[in-house]
Amino acid sequence: MKAELICVGTELLLGDIVNTNAAFIAKNLAMLGIDHVYEVVVGDNKDRLKAQLEITKNRSDIIILSGGLGPTQDDLTKETVAEHLNKKLVFDENVYKHIEEYFNKIKRPITENSKKQAYVIEGSRVLMNEWGTAPGLICEENNKTYILLPGPPMELEPMFNKYVFPYLKERSSTVLVSKTVKIMGIGEAMAEEMVKDLIKSQNPTLAPYAKDGEVHFRITAKAKNEEEAQSLIQPVYNRLKEIFGINIYAEDDQTLEEVVANLLIKNNLTIAVAESCTGGLVTSKLVNYPGISSVLLEGVVTYSNDSKIKRLMVSEETLKQHGAVSYQTAIEMAEGVAKTAKADIGISTTGIAGPSGGTSKKPVGLVYLGVYIKGYKTFKELKLAGDRQRIRERASKELLDFLRR
Ligand code: ATP
Ligand code: MG
Repeated sequence: MKAELICVGTELLLGDIVNTNAAFIAKNLAMLGIDHVYEVVVGDNKDRLKAQLEITKNRSDIIILSGGLGPTQDDLTKETVAEHLNKKLVFDENVYKHIEEYFNKIKRPITENSKKQAYVIEGSRVLMNEWGTAPGLICEENNKTYILLPGPPMELEPMFNKYVFPYLKERSSTVLVSKTVKIMGIGEAMAEEMVKDLIKSQNPTLAPYAKDGEVHFRITAKAKNEEEAQSLIQPVYNRLKEIFGINIYAEDDQTLEEVVANLLIKNNLTIAVAESCTGGLVTSKLVNYPGISSVLLEGVVTYSNDSKIKRLMVSEETLKQHGAVSYQTAIEMAEGVAKTAKADIGISTTGIAGPSGGTSKKPVGLVYLGVYIKGYKTFKELKLAGDRQRIRERASKELLDFLRR
């Protein structure tokens, strides 16, 4: 069973509104295990919509249309689908009553053009719209199913949940289940190479996608039910764990900060953060996690040398001899913030985010991360590429990942 979505609306083509209906329906089709093969946007234009329906009917079985069911001149989805199917529009008493009631409720007289909404495609199933006036329709014709839904998400979403989801579920004999494994510390090309045999698999499929120094692998299984899908996913998931080990930092919706926060909470360790080039990004990430207050004591931005000396007790000697961007300074910053904040752990960043300030010995993108854990000290040197924001963002994530390990 192949599904195609046609979103009708000139405002979508102009970029005036974001196509949230498409994302909503796509997610639901995936959950139902229905192959979603095409997604098209057509303006409020009868000829073009008709031409599109001719294309769509030759390649898809379930044809979902969103928008253009309302009372105005440019709302022509129902009329066009009726013509496409050679069907008449017939007056529906129940829909008319519903529209009348709706207008009574909002204490406005019923408009002439609103009556147009009481006409439905003959032989179709009418989906009453409790959230607005225009009804949805399901037409089964020539082995194809046409599902028409109103455009406003506040109407489309509940109508989809109430009528369309159960309708499609009954017809779909499969479910799609996925699991995501998130990796840091290995580049995309290398990561793909490491799992190239698994990527060839058809069911479950394994798809990598890379972003900002991370690689996510999504395992997707198609099966008769959830349980069977899980049993297909499990062996691939186990293999990924073997292959990537400690480089896996999270699964599914988990975030890096959540993982770090949970580790701290579990081990009953408090933390303080000293940031130079990241300017508060590390602390801000930690604060994203709602439970962090029990372990995060403070975050300080010490940008100048003076501040590093006064606030963190970094020695003048270290700064003079090795410079602010050095592993020595990073370690002293981490130790200094831990001790002054009376935290078990101190972590730090110092680096050159650019675009200026780099030298041949210390180029833009050079960042040192410092970690101090109850007397134990370590650091990591990073050589990052990209613009200022990217370097700062990457450095922040790398520090949390470094600490997690
Ligand atoms: P109405 O009765 O409100 O006219 P309709 O079924 O005729 O409903 P449209 O006229 O196509 O729907 O769109 C009405 C409004 O719904 C749009 O102005 C927009 O705000 C929203 N909308 C339409 N299509 C989408 C979409 N694909 N994604 C998100 N919002 C949409
Ligand atoms: Mg409209």
